[in-house]
Amino acid sequence: MTEVFKGSFTQQEPIPEDGIAAALDVLRHGRLHRYNLAPGEDGEVALLEREFAAYVGARYALAVASGGYALATALRAVGVKPGDKVLTNAFTLAPVPGAIASVNAVPVFVGVTEDLVIDLDDLEAKAGEASVLMLSHMRGHICDMDRLMEVCNRAGITVIEDCAHTMGAAWKGVPSGRHGLVGCYSTQTYKHMNSGEGGFLVTDDDEVMARAVMLSGSYMLYGRHGTVPPEEVFARVKYETPNVSGRMDNLRAAILRPQLAKLDDQCAAWNARYGAVEDGLRGTPGLTVVARPEAERYVGSSIQFLLLDWPDAAVADVIDRCKARGVELKWFGGAEPTGFTSRYDSWRYAPSERMPKSDRVLKGIVDMRLPLTFSLDDCALIARIIRAEAGAVWQEQAA
Ligand SMILES: *Cc1c(COP(=O)(O)O)cnc(C)c1O
Repeated sequence: MTEVFKGSFTQQEPIPEDGIAAALDVLRHGRLHRYNLAPGEDGEVALLEREFAAYVGARYALAVASGGYALATALRAVGVKPGDKVLTNAFTLAPVPGAIASVNAVPVFVGVTEDLVIDLDDLEAKAGEASVLMLSHMRGHICDMDRLMEVCNRAGITVIEDCAHTMGAAWKGVPSGRHGLVGCYSTQTYKHMNSGEGGFLVTDDDEVMARAVMLSGSYMLYGRHGTVPPEEVFARVKYETPNVSGRMDNLRAAILRPQLAKLDDQCAAWNARYGAVEDGLRGTPGLTVVARPEAERYVGSSIQFLLLDWPDAAVADVIDRCKARGVELKWFGGAEPTGFTSRYDSWRYAPSERMPKSDRVLKGIVDMRLPLTFSLDDCALIARIIRAEAGAVWQEQAA
């Protein structure tokens, strides 16, 4: 009998009941705007900012309208100007080069390795070209952060981390987003906490946070934030920092606070699912499971494997066969981007030289989401289906 998987790759878990109750409270009192507070009230957004700052061990956290907004705000807050070059990953999601383009800066793409992290040799070679790196921990893969920070410190490069897929992750025990000057996170539905849309920016830097708060649209109400630098820091920036409105509201914050409280449990649940698929795929001929370094504490909310050096038609065949059995894989190497774009050559507003070593990797990356609505049995079944179909296509190729 041919096994077929019936689950949905886009169905997340419901919002926890305590989040629903907190959201109803906000709806009933009607004070959704973060600065609309009753006497003595802190507000859900300010409380969330305090809790998130404590969670990642940052001095300051700012809750905003989206992850992409956090990235653009970070670029503005560290002083990126129109025409400046910004180093970033050749393998990331469209909002990352998009944030750079939104401040009229120019992305300079750095290659990807077979471990799906930024190519640190390529970064070293390009380090002289820019003074800011927007580092994307794409699909949750964390590079050797010690070497990355050494390269960037030596070259005087400011690091902004895109942690859309690494909320809850760490390198050598240091939370992702806490190696660079600024860390940015997303709470969009497909990330690790779900408020539909939303994001965070964290830093220890007084000036960067004061500017980010002003940029996010605080008017002169920044004193109502959860974590803010002293007044004298605002005095230096408040008249010369534009309001680029992008605040979070109390309704989303109310939904997020209970999710933050159980984030570590959720991460463990993702990793159990990741492990089940990884175990099932290991040893499949022609298929490379991505190695995860000892120093990396990752969150397996998606899984990637490589079909390195397979002909395009064979990869497409694996994708089609798996789809026919209910397993939705995304192929980043397809000639035309479908659904979303993750490859430097898709962003034609930012021209780049070809990167043959990265192209080889990008052509072979296959990606799959692992929503927590999947059981461990589901994950084992999915792995059996991929293994069987990739194996069949592999044998056809050999014949
Ligand atoms: C989702 C995502 C973002 C942007 O987050 P939004 O909240 O959707 O704006 C940035 N980087 C990566 C790698 C992402 O996957």
